[in-house]
Amino acid sequence: MPPPFRELSVAQFADEVAAYTWTRPVFRVDMHHTFHPSHAEWRGRDSVEGMWRFHTLSRGFEDIAQHVSIAPDGAIWTGRDWNKTPASVGCNMNAQAFMFEAIGNFDVGHDLLDGAQRFAVVAVIDIVQRHFRLPVQALLFHREVPQTPKTCPGTGIDKGDILRAVAARRALA
Ligand SMILES: [Zn+2]
Repeated sequence: MPPPFRELSVAQFADEVAAYTWTRPVFRVDMHHTFHPSHAEWRGRDSVEGMWRFHTLSRGFEDIAQHVSIAPDGAIWTGRDWNKTPASVGCNMNAQAFMFEAIGNFDVGHDLLDGAQRFAVVAVIDIVQRHFRLPVQALLFHREVPQTPKTCPGTGIDKGDILRAVAARRALA
């Protein structure tokens, strides 16, 4: 969806996922980091609108690539229409994906995914997967596909850690 983008709490995101009129199935959650903006470069709404402008004007995408962006403070910013295929990993693998970007550069030696942001990342994965009755393993890191040389969502993020955190959150449901 074009601007205005909206800032949601985890609870508001859960309510919107439940209430949303989904017209497509979601089979997978795709995790990325932005690289730019990093935590230090993050400017809230201005940054989300900047990504939207970059994706639509420079990259030629029909809209901002991702369905949501997760801020360093844990806020979940809306993005592309959730019923539209995201611009995620390419090679005809994007259909049926729900794509999010964690704001930051999570390569080793740069930003850390912790606190409220990590809490929101784990929550978004769990909430979307649970809505579509998907297993915890229905999570793709961008770097896992052979068509990219990127380290996305960052060499500092261990997939096993994220999967265990999602499983732990699910066990409380
Ligand atoms: Zn990526």
